[in-house]
Formats: sequence, structure tokens, C-alpha cells
Amino acid sequence: MKKEHLDKRVEKFFNLIGENYLPDDLELVKLAYDYAANAHQNQVRMSGDPYIVHPLATAQKLAELNLDIPTVIAGLLHDVPEETEVTIEQIEKNFGKEIANLIDGITKLGKIKYRGIERYAENLRKMFVAMSDDIRVIFIKFADRIHNLKTLAALPPVKQQRIATESLEIYAPIADRLGMGLIKGELEDLAFPYVHPQAYNWLLKIIPREYRTREKYLERVKKNVEQELRDNNIPMEIASIHGRTKHLYSLYKKLLRSDINQDISKIYDLVALRIIVPSIGDCYSTLGIIHKLYKPFPGRIKDYIAQPKPNGYQSLHTTVFADHGQIVEFQIRTVKMHEEAEFGIAAHWHYKEQKGNINKKNTNWIKELVKWQREIRDSEQFINSIKLDAFQNRIFVFTPKGDVIDLPEKSTAIDFAYHVHSWVGDKCIGAKVNDQMVSLDSELKSGDIVEIITDKNRKGPSEDWLESAKTSMAKSKIKSAINKKKKIKNLLGN
Ligand code: MN
Repeated sequence: MKKEHLDKRVEKFFNLIGENYLPDDLELVKLAYDYAANAHQNQVRMSGDPYIVHPLATAQKLAELNLDIPTVIAGLLHDVPEETEVTIEQIEKNFGKEIANLIDGITKLGKIKYRGIERYAENLRKMFVAMSDDIRVIFIKFADRIHNLKTLAALPPVKQQRIATESLEIYAPIADRLGMGLIKGELEDLAFPYVHPQAYNWLLKIIPREYRTREKYLERVKKNVEQELRDNNIPMEIASIHGRTKHLYSLYKKLLRSDINQDISKIYDLVALRIIVPSIGDCYSTLGIIHKLYKPFPGRIKDYIAQPKPNGYQSLHTTVFADHGQIVEFQIRTVKMHEEAEFGIAAHWHYKEQKGNINKKNTNWIKELVKWQREIRDSEQFINSIKLDAFQNRIFVFTPKGDVIDLPEKSTAIDFAYHVHSWVGDKCIGAKVNDQMVSLDSELKSGDIVEIITDKNRKGPSEDWLESAKTSMAKSKIKSAINKKKKIKNLLGN
């Protein structure tokens, strides 16, 4: 990279800070930049670029997310203790405890202590602990990872595979669970070509054709809806979602689903329209107006406003038959819901936003993971359970009181019972789903209302429950209850 290029990037970064933050903040950011540039001055990236390009890009991303100043500065300094002679104590002296703690969190994530699976599991464990201490650590990690993915071409193929796969399997799902739609999409789009090059190239080839045919009628539908909303005095912004090269990975995942079976014509939201309106009332009015214009597709009206997704996502979704039976999806939401959908939990850490104003429900699962990672000591089992339980597609079901519980797909009533409490699991003798008695091994679907019937005299789980349970959490609780029972039996027998 030429010096002019770097200078341009620095200038762009300082301008962004100057526009969105206070003058004092800009001064501090400039100091931190000089400090980092000085510490990394003789280092180069694998690409041959000066090292400072990387922390700069990381901080730029954090500032684009409009995160608070300590996070942006920690982004600039995040590789200093790891890669240079400067210590974390020196950073604390110069920039204070808050920033030093954030960098310490990141540095601990990067330390290589173990080889292979042990090291990987250990890093994941540390990550969840660091996240539960201060969620901003994961924002910095995302920004760091996004730049590393952008410059992945410079690395040897083995490293490319490892970093890209990990981004798809771990980081993107974490971003998703934190409601950070923009970051999730970016991580996936950057990693996808490295992990599944053939599928990626195939999609790149067929997508433009699909778009051309669909865009024509989409334009007509958009005009009609716009006109109708205007006649009804609903102010709105209407735009088509998805670019030709964006969101290809989520498209790919949908194509692999059994009901779609790689038939792209069955993907109705390949092109979709998003309508942003001022109030919740306007959302429902808009839905009604669309349904007056076009017949809705049965079973595809989703009210995520009344019943938000577990990650906080809110919107109304509907799919309609437009002219000549063509199918169009709509997403309707308010400005605030839109911000939540794009930034998720990071929206609560926006500059000037009240700190700590975080929906507890959104982060409880991190605490759960931390608790749970202490219980599973075997590394391979830990990684598998993370992939299976924590980041698989989720369904959400309800307790009779209306509380939402999210579980991995294919979970059964047994998983639900153990999710509520080990005691409920151990004493469970039956289950009702939507008021109907069902067997304990029946699979739950999103939206089910699940009631567990217990009997305090039940003597723990039976062994065949190990088959019926799908989550590792339930399985491990069943195993430990059975082992306990055996131990007691042995003791009494002897
Ligand atoms: Mn880094």
C-alpha cells in the first residue's frame, strides 16, 4: 500500500470521528492512533501493508457502528500488547482502566496455549467469559475479524479455511443471536466464497438472471403499494432488499432446506420489499392495505411485533400473490425496529446512548453458555454442543404463561422440560402441546405452547430419554441423573 493510500484512510477515519463524536473525543482518538502507529511502526501484514492498516480498519468499523469512544480506541490499540513490546500496564497508564480492560479481553482471546481442538475449545470458553464480562469485547472481535476476512487472500489456504469456517460457524451465529443483522451478513458474505467456493460461484452465475425477471414485476408492485399508502396518508420509505451479491450465504442455506431442495424459484424473498413507517399502528395499517391490494399467501403472515424473535427482531412479514401470480415478500417495521434489526445489541452501546440499557433477555444466553461451559470439560464435546445447541437454527416456543423459550430445531418436550429446570425434567411424566397430550419425544415447532406435567414421586429420568432428547444440555442432565441413581443403588446394594 502506498503512503498516500494510508493517509487517505486515516483522514477518512478522523473525518468520521469529527462528524459523529465530540471534539475532545477526536483529540483522544488521534493520540491513540499515533500511539498504535508508533508501536506497530516496523511491522507489516502478510499482504505487505503496514500493520497499522489493520487496527485502523477495525476502529473505522466500530466508529461506523457508532459505538462509544472507549470501544473505538480499544479497536485502534487491540493488537498492541499481543504484537508489540508495549504492555497492557502501559496502555492503562496512558488510556485508563476501561480501555485497558477491553484490550485485555481481546488479547486473552488471541493467546495460543493449546494446539488443535484443545486450543480451539479453550478460546471459545474464554470468548464467552469475556463477552459476559463486557459485551463490547465481541464487537471489537467482529470488527477485527471482518478486516481479517477482507484481507484473507494474502494468507496460506489452510489458514484461510480455518478463519473463514470459524467465521461462519461461530462468529456469524453469535452476531445473529445478538440481533446484529448487518455484521452477521458481512461476516457470512466475506467467508462464504472461501468455505464453499463452488456453491458461491454457481450462485454468482445464476442470481443476475433471477433478479432481472423478478425486478421487473417488483418495480410495478412497489409503485402500486407506494401509491396506495400515500392515498391513505401513511408516510413511508419503501425499498427493495438484497443486492445481487449480498446475502448469498443466507440464500445458499435456504436452498439446502429440504422443502426447497435447491429450487431457486421456491425462494420467495429473493427479492423483497421493506417498508419503514413511523409507528406500530402504521405497520398494521400498512399490512391491511397490502392485503387489500394483493391476496396473502396462506401461512406466511408473521407478526414479529406482537411476538418478537428471541434475538429481539421485530417486524411484520407477509408474502402475497402479485399480478399474474408472482410472489412478493414484504417486511414492515418502524424506524426503531429497523435500527434494532441492523445493529441489535450494539444499538444500546451507541455513542451518547444510555449505557447498560440492554434488554436482559438478549444476553441471558451468554451467561447460560458460561455456566454451561464450566460443566462440559471435554473439549470435543464442548465444541459440538456449542455448534448444535447454541448456534443451530432456533425455534421459539411458549410456556403456558406466555414466556418465550428458544431451543434448537428438532427439540422435543424433554428438551423443553430440562431447559425449564433439571427438577422439571427429572420429574416429568407427560406434556401438553397446544392443550393436547403428546408423547415426550414429539418434536416441537415454533409457536407451540408447551406445558410439562410433573409428578414429584417420579424417580428420575428413564434411559430411553437419552434418545428422545436432542439438546446436549438435556442429554448431559439425564446422564448425570441416571448415574446418580446407579450410585445410590450400588451404595444400598453393598
Ligand atoms: Mn487484530
